[in-house]
Amino acid sequence: MTDFTLKTDADGVAVITWDTVGKSMNVMNQQGFTDLDALVGQALADDAVKGIIITSGKPDSFAGGMDLNIIARMKDSAGDDPARGLFDGVMAMHGVLRRIERAGMDPKTNKGGKPIAAALPGTALGIGLEIPLACHRIFAADNPKAKIGLPEIMVGIFPGAGGTTRLARKLGAMGASPLLLEGKLNDPHGAKRAGVIDEVVPAEDLISAAKAWVLSSPTIVKPWDEKGYKMPGGAPYHPAGFMTFVGASAMVNGKTMGVYPAAKALLSAVYEGALVPFDTALKIEARWFTNVLMNPSSSAMIRSLFINKEALEKGANRPDAPDQKVKQVGVIGAGMMGAGIALVSALAGIKVVLIDAKQDAADKGKSYTADYMDKGIARKKVTDDKKTAVLGLINATTDYAALKDCDLIVEAVFEDVGVKAEVTKMVQAVTGPDCIFATNTSTLPITELAKASNDPAKFIGIHFFSPVDKMMLVEIIKGQQSSDVAVAKALDFVRQIRKTPIVVNDARFFYANRCIIPYINEGIRMVREGVEPALIENAAKLVGMPLGPLQLVDETSIDLGVKIAKATRAAMGDAYPDGEVDEVLFWMADQMRLGRKSNAGFYAYDDKGKRLGLWDGLAAQYPVADDQPDLVTVQHRLLFAQVLEAVRALEGGVLTDIREGDVGAILGWGFAPWSGGPFSWLDIIGAPYAAERCDQLTAQFGDRFTTPDLLRDMADKGHEFYKRFGTGAKAA
Ligand code: NAD
Repeated sequence: MTDFTLKTDADGVAVITWDTVGKSMNVMNQQGFTDLDALVGQALADDAVKGIIITSGKPDSFAGGMDLNIIARMKDSAGDDPARGLFDGVMAMHGVLRRIERAGMDPKTNKGGKPIAAALPGTALGIGLEIPLACHRIFAADNPKAKIGLPEIMVGIFPGAGGTTRLARKLGAMGASPLLLEGKLNDPHGAKRAGVIDEVVPAEDLISAAKAWVLSSPTIVKPWDEKGYKMPGGAPYHPAGFMTFVGASAMVNGKTMGVYPAAKALLSAVYEGALVPFDTALKIEARWFTNVLMNPSSSAMIRSLFINKEALEKGANRPDAPDQKVKQVGVIGAGMMGAGIALVSALAGIKVVLIDAKQDAADKGKSYTADYMDKGIARKKVTDDKKTAVLGLINATTDYAALKDCDLIVEAVFEDVGVKAEVTKMVQAVTGPDCIFATNTSTLPITELAKASNDPAKFIGIHFFSPVDKMMLVEIIKGQQSSDVAVAKALDFVRQIRKTPIVVNDARFFYANRCIIPYINEGIRMVREGVEPALIENAAKLVGMPLGPLQLVDETSIDLGVKIAKATRAAMGDAYPDGEVDEVLFWMADQMRLGRKSNAGFYAYDDKGKRLGLWDGLAAQYPVADDQPDLVTVQHRLLFAQVLEAVRALEGGVLTDIREGDVGAILGWGFAPWSGGPFSWLDIIGAPYAAERCDQLTAQFGDRFTTPDLLRDMADKGHEFYKRFGTGAKAA
């Protein structure tokens, strides 16, 4: 069976229908291109055919994009000259789309040819929009759920099947930039307003509207194939175009800090392409696309942010247990986290019982959802009915008896063993024997908390990140006795609320916090040593961290840092390694510089909470040294502080799958996404170099950089993490 079929009706309109076998949404693969090309060729050659419509056999979507597994594999399978293989493969794709665009027209006169319309029932992403862009007119069904756009940049590549060149020529560099550089997606009306598609029609009229247009003898020559074509907004040597490109270049460098090769390559493809005829521009696009695909950052990003993220979401590490979909969730504690958990659950259509000690606290928690929906209404993304329906799912109460029918509890009360134990008992006095109890604790060991449970097998950690509605990662923590059913329940819940799960074993700070705390601490340590704070912060950003360590601790609050430090010291005793960090942290707390929440921290803030710049009073206590380290040393200290913790988590069996280590790092704390995550980064720099660097850092800065045995072994053997532990296989 092929994914594309052709049917010609009595009026001479050939309808090519794309229907990927065995998938709910169309995905393009190599065979698909061949088949589409053959059918378009057949229709163009058939005298009985007056025009062509390309549409989808799926009722609500056109296509989700390219099978990125294939791009990754294409590179591996291209022999000893992978760049040539990739370039030729990409040019072959261009050939197919260019044949659609030219549709049999005479190359000199632009005469002849047959009109080709794209008819999109719904979502059209990536190649699913690049094909329509090669057609002569794009019709979309008025389907508010549809997403139309080119999101490639989000996974470290850019639209490489002509989408970049066509959109830039259609809309101009300025008009195309949010769509290409930010991967902005639109609904059909938004896509029409942006100039990406041509018509939005009622779903039932989609094919008839496209057909009427095809039969209306329309002009089909693309503007860029006409003599005298000028790029909207001006090409680079036009005064206005010049300004656009200067601005775009500054913007890209500012936003990416120079670490994302795809954004720069995309801009180069647009800039250089704008100076030459269309077919040469496609070749330039293909060369930059190949360049990006050959960059290890791109393959690492594709692997973590697309392939592995999706695998985890689909339950790659789900134990074999029957469906555990949640019907009713009880959320205990309606504070910052509980309110967010109630919101995302209700948005997923799950009934929620939201409990707090006082009714007004429970109501306040529920009002978080009302506020969220109101913001959606203001942006015209949400209807009043939807708000009513979502709020109707949340029962805010103080009455534990209301939890009777819940099949999952998520506890988010104060971070206190005693309070949590009491709540566990109160909940289990009313819930049924099959109910799974999850705690959202960020620091307390799950196995310890499970002691308060009447059935530790049904007790587990489900650790959300703040703000719950924005953060995509959920860390599921297995206590020593957590059962497979409890893990499956947590995973099925995370799937329902459409977030990405990782499953880790119980140990201090689990995975994400375990790695992020040393990052913050390393930054603070450097302050104490006299490293210029601006150097610390900028070094972090220039290596792709979203926030410098000092800004991060300001955001999470310095008193929280103090609290965690005290608890950790109490638990570790003499082995506690961070006394020097605490000196700075405690001093900051004494000065009442508690971070953003007190409008004073490592940064200065104005009365409205706007960050003004690094606090100049810090130098009086911790003077800036005359000799400053070089940028790379600061960056390596900040990166290795995190990465070595990830390796230790793997060594110690907290992480059991390096895919989770990488995906969790990017989604959980924003670890340099360009690198694909800590393990991908180590593979990019190579274990031998990593071990050598650790030895140097240890000699210079202390034992916290000691090369873990696993990394040493890998360095000795020349191993890579993804080769040793497998892309799909479990690590331990
Ligand atoms: P919070 O102080 O905002 O909310 C806690 C809520 O629990 C309050 O509304 C309080 O009234 C309620 N509560 C306390 N005792 C109760 C009881 N016996 N019965 C019912 N309700 C009770 O705290 P938060 O920031 O939402 O954190 C909650 C939990 O989530 C903590 O365990 C925390 O460690 C964890 N956590 C927090 C974050 C974060 O960034 N804040 C992130 C991940 C996990």
